[in-house]
Amino acid sequence: MTIAYPGAATRALEHDWLAFERAHIWHPYSSMTRPVTTYPVRRTEGIHIELEDGRRLIDGMASWWSVIHGYSHPVLNAAARRQLEDMAHVMFGGLTHRPAARLAATLIDITPEPLQHVFFADSGSVAVEVAIKMAIQYWFAQGRPERSRLLTIRSGYHGDTFAAMSVCDPQGGMHQLFTGILPKQHFTRAPTCRVDDDWSDADIAEIRELLAHRGHEVAAVILEPIVQGAGGMRFYCPRFLRELATLCEQHEVLLIFDEVATGFGRTGELFAMEHAGVVPDILCLGKALTGGYMTLAATLTNARVAHGISDADPGVFMHGPTFMANPLAVSVAQASVELLLESPWQARVAEIEAGLRHGLAPCAELPHVRDVRVLGAIGVVELDRPVDMQRAPAAFVERGVWVRPFRNLIYVMPPYIMPSDALAQLTRAMVEVAALAGEWEG
Ligand code: PLP
Repeated sequence: MTIAYPGAATRALEHDWLAFERAHIWHPYSSMTRPVTTYPVRRTEGIHIELEDGRRLIDGMASWWSVIHGYSHPVLNAAARRQLEDMAHVMFGGLTHRPAARLAATLIDITPEPLQHVFFADSGSVAVEVAIKMAIQYWFAQGRPERSRLLTIRSGYHGDTFAAMSVCDPQGGMHQLFTGILPKQHFTRAPTCRVDDDWSDADIAEIRELLAHRGHEVAAVILEPIVQGAGGMRFYCPRFLRELATLCEQHEVLLIFDEVATGFGRTGELFAMEHAGVVPDILCLGKALTGGYMTLAATLTNARVAHGISDADPGVFMHGPTFMANPLAVSVAQASVELLLESPWQARVAEIEAGLRHGLAPCAELPHVRDVRVLGAIGVVELDRPVDMQRAPAAFVERGVWVRPFRNLIYVMPPYIMPSDALAQLTRAMVEVAALAGEWEG
């Protein structure tokens, strides 16, 4: 192989970088032959995304739930710079460092008391892989290898790696394609009771039945507490989690909460599990952990699981990514969590919740809108038809905001620092685009 650098690719890039990137770079869930429009970004600051052509967009997505403090926050910038001076990275095998220990202490302090052991992972998907592996290895260690299947509710989303995909919604989700080769898990219906609805026992009946008959082969139940995100932006009642926790205890099944999306205040509580007062055996965190600065996730567990794994053959937990506990990432995460805890985040999220309820109310009048729902800093408009993924983002950009719908859902989860006038512009745009979407058929 002869390497010519700079070569044809570099020349193509220099000629027209956007044409080059369209032809050569995958975007999330994208086609290499039928690319959709991507908007080139020059910089980001506060609640704004600035495009290369100079337009400034109000960000409704917080870069997929993560940028809770807004972009380019001086406190997080300073934390990154400080850490860079000492150490950008060092392997975590056989070595350790104070920034990782500091963040672990913080996470242990802010999560329920039984969660005392922290595994740092690279991304939300990997945190879920680690959680699943922990559950399965725990049961191997107990001499119960038959307990190897997962139980979950439909409409969930847990990431794009293989074990994570195996517990994503098998029909409505993005992973139908791989169904035949994914590990077979148990799925039961997602709860239908909304957050403030009266409890209906029908919501837990299928899980109760399944655990009664197949509980002996279930390693763990995994689900997103209170808010199911990318699987459908569904909100459900806390009682479901309490009933589920009781069943898990009865059948000795581990309980895994995936709070990758809901963690760090998004639903109005620091963690969504607090709405129900239920503590899982294993907890996955990610996304907002670093305030959206870099990729880092964590899987926390209790002594039962951690000691159960460690006290049996092979005596170690079998996972260890190259960039585990990356010092830059854990330092920024530490700064982000401190910034959150020192801020009036609960009041801010409550204000955003009120602004979303008020601003999105007109959507409920639209004939093709099936549902409008708001919880904490999450606002969802559900249509009776899919949203056109070429026209909708363009319509939002024209209105000076950044919103990226999926399926039949137009939704936002803005940074917590969003002022009320910007939020009003965001919700106005959602109402207008939701109205337009009714005319986009075909
Ligand atoms: N779990 C949940 C609940 C998520 O919402 C996501 C991502 O949207 C993931 C896991 C996967 O996280 P990541 O994209 O960082 O791999």
